[in-house]
Amino acid sequence: MVGERYDARRLGREGRSWSNWAGHQSCRPRDFVRVQGVGELSEVVGRAASEGRQVSTVGSGHSFTPAALSDDVLLDVTSIAGVIAADRASGLVEVGGGTVLADLNRALDRLGLAMPNLGDIDRQTIAGAVSTGTHGTGKDFPNISAQIERIGVMGPDGEVREFGAGSDELLAARVAIGSLGVITSVTLRTVPAFNLHRVDEPMDLDLALSEFETLIAENEHFEFFVFPYTRTALTLRRNRTDRPLAPRGKVDRYLGDVVLENGLGDLALRATGKFRGAIPKLARYSTHFMSQSEQIDVSHRLFANYRTIRFNEMEYALPREAGPEALERVLAMIEGESFPLAMPIECRVSAGDDALISQAHGRPTAYIAVHQHHTMEYEPYFREIEEIFKSYGGRPHWGKLHFQDAASLAPLFPGWERFEAVRDRLDPDRTFSNAYVNRVLGP
Ligand SMILES: Cc1cc2nc3c(=O)[nH]c(=O)nc-3n(C[C@H](O)[C@H](O)[C@H](O)COP(=O)(O)OP(=O)(O)OC[C@H]3O[C@@H](n4cnc5c(N)ncnc54)[C@H](O)[C@@H]3O)c2cc1C
Repeated sequence: MVGERYDARRLGREGRSWSNWAGHQSCRPRDFVRVQGVGELSEVVGRAASEGRQVSTVGSGHSFTPAALSDDVLLDVTSIAGVIAADRASGLVEVGGGTVLADLNRALDRLGLAMPNLGDIDRQTIAGAVSTGTHGTGKDFPNISAQIERIGVMGPDGEVREFGAGSDELLAARVAIGSLGVITSVTLRTVPAFNLHRVDEPMDLDLALSEFETLIAENEHFEFFVFPYTRTALTLRRNRTDRPLAPRGKVDRYLGDVVLENGLGDLALRATGKFRGAIPKLARYSTHFMSQSEQIDVSHRLFANYRTIRFNEMEYALPREAGPEALERVLAMIEGESFPLAMPIECRVSAGDDALISQAHGRPTAYIAVHQHHTMEYEPYFREIEEIFKSYGGRPHWGKLHFQDAASLAPLFPGWERFEAVRDRLDPDRTFSNAYVNRVLGP
């Protein structure tokens, strides 16, 4: 048994439960193995598969869905990390699958390189991030997985296979929710390091929605947040600049991000659980704290934000032109039905891409994300809001909560059958499945 050999000796974690960042998804795997390298990974995976066991891999546990859960063998591959090879001239950089984005960004910076776009935190592993279709914002920028030139995936036989351009294997493995094997390495197309000018500014929501296409055309990375029950959006514009660095001071950052946004914000959100009727008033009050600010810094420092407030989230990818109307309908539903949702809704965009089950497959995309504080119930509200997203042919983010299954999802993805064909080739016995993968991709 894998457990007898690895579990207690290497981890001392036998029988201990694992839970995700938000705390709502947890499991008690029979074996939780923190492998120390590709050699040991091969031994563990090969042995588990030959015994007919099921294997899941966890990254940083930042998915809101049960994507990384296992009641059998759970692997932690964060030791398979760091830069393996780098070619500054072409910008191609190969890194271990367990590399945390923050470390990746610092390593690229030292090479004079950078990721062209990133999401709004940097705690995920690169393999975990791409596996669910993690994205940032910008109409000309696809999700992070689109930067992958080559990918190394360990199959159930413990062998690593490399997939490159032109293969369905690469298009499938870029976004695969862990279902094709363990990603041991990715070769990323990076760009020369650059600085960003970030401007945060409140804007009338009607203007942000009516000028949405102009705002996303005029800014490389545009997004906005809006609290339900209010009509003021906080817009964030990030554009490349050659101007000298003008970062925020440490004190300003501490007071703004740590104390005000996350510390006081968290206290206020906990209180809303007890005083639900106060949510609209609190939301309107919060807009008074929105102010204009700007900074110029190294790109990855301005993509990522500091987040300590725990929450649950649902995010849907819609055809881009449907974004503003869908957002208006979501806000009207929340207000009309007095849903106790006190956290802001986020609206972003991305270019389409060609990963077979990417949420943005083949179409320019608007993303709308709703959040609920982790101490409060989310399911009835997310379920009703999901109906709005579904009416536009929306596709769920694989790492964020949704209530669909393979039967309703398959028709939304033109590449579905090609993905399933790759899955049949790479993992015919479904070694790399768990309950979530079975639900959303089929057994
Ligand atoms: C505070 C916060 C902010 C976020 N911001 C954004 C954002 O801006 N944009 C966005 O799109 N998403 C965002 N997300 C969602 C997050 O990026 C995704 O859920 C991402 O998948 C999490 O990466 P992870 O390393 O934590 O992976 P996990 O959540 O641990 O795992 C995710 C999936 O990847 C698989 N996996 C992990 N490692 C491997 C591997 N080596 N080989 C094969 N499969 C593997 C797992 O099995 C699982 O299916 C955010 C989440 C949080 C909590």
